[in-house]
Amino acid sequence: MNPEESLARVAEEVSACTSCSLHHSRKLAVPGEGPASAEIMLIGEGPGYHENEQGRPFVGAAGTFLNDLLAQAGLKRSDVWIGNIVKCRPPGNRDPMPEEISTCNEYLERQIAAIDPRIIITLGRYSMAKFMPGAKISQVHGQMRRAGDRFVIAMFHPAAALHQAALKPSILADFARLPGLLETARRAFDKAPAGGVSAPETPSEDPKQMNLF
Ligand code: URA
Repeated sequence: MNPEESLARVAEEVSACTSCSLHHSRKLAVPGEGPASAEIMLIGEGPGYHENEQGRPFVGAAGTFLNDLLAQAGLKRSDVWIGNIVKCRPPGNRDPMPEEISTCNEYLERQIAAIDPRIIITLGRYSMAKFMPGAKISQVHGQMRRAGDRFVIAMFHPAAALHQAALKPSILADFARLPGLLETARRAFDKAPAGGVSAPETPSEDPKQMNLF
């Protein structure tokens, strides 16, 4: 199976999934969307009201803000892949439970393997915890860290920044640095751009300043 086919297969399975109790209350599952060639994957927490209605990730107020943040970084929504830790809406927008996250993890792993992105951006603490267990978002946000074959950057959740004005300058600043971080990631793997994302125009980051491990 090629990456597009793998993503389509996962989306099909997610849409019919009954593996955890979230399927009882969902209207539409939200597998995630974006090109299989995306260099950047953004991973949020779980679908909210609007996502559950439409079957698409980040289409409510947080999604509008996310689109603005991407535009500020010179990226279009269609350049990146966007998904979530859990694919079905937790009732009443409660936090996803550990068993829901672990049941859904297989889908996310297959999506990551199919896309093989250079950078994963975690939005909020649940997706951060998958890649940086024990990390504190206030300490690590915006830092690009090596995780095996790719890099991970933890960012505040756009919805949190919408509700807590004090977080907004941080998330704006973190997204503003994204073009330079993407260039650094490309150089680190010595790969040519995959074609989905245009070359950044801002100066590259100095890798020495990065927190790489
Ligand atoms: N919040 C998320 O974490 N994911 C969505 O898809 C929408 C809002």
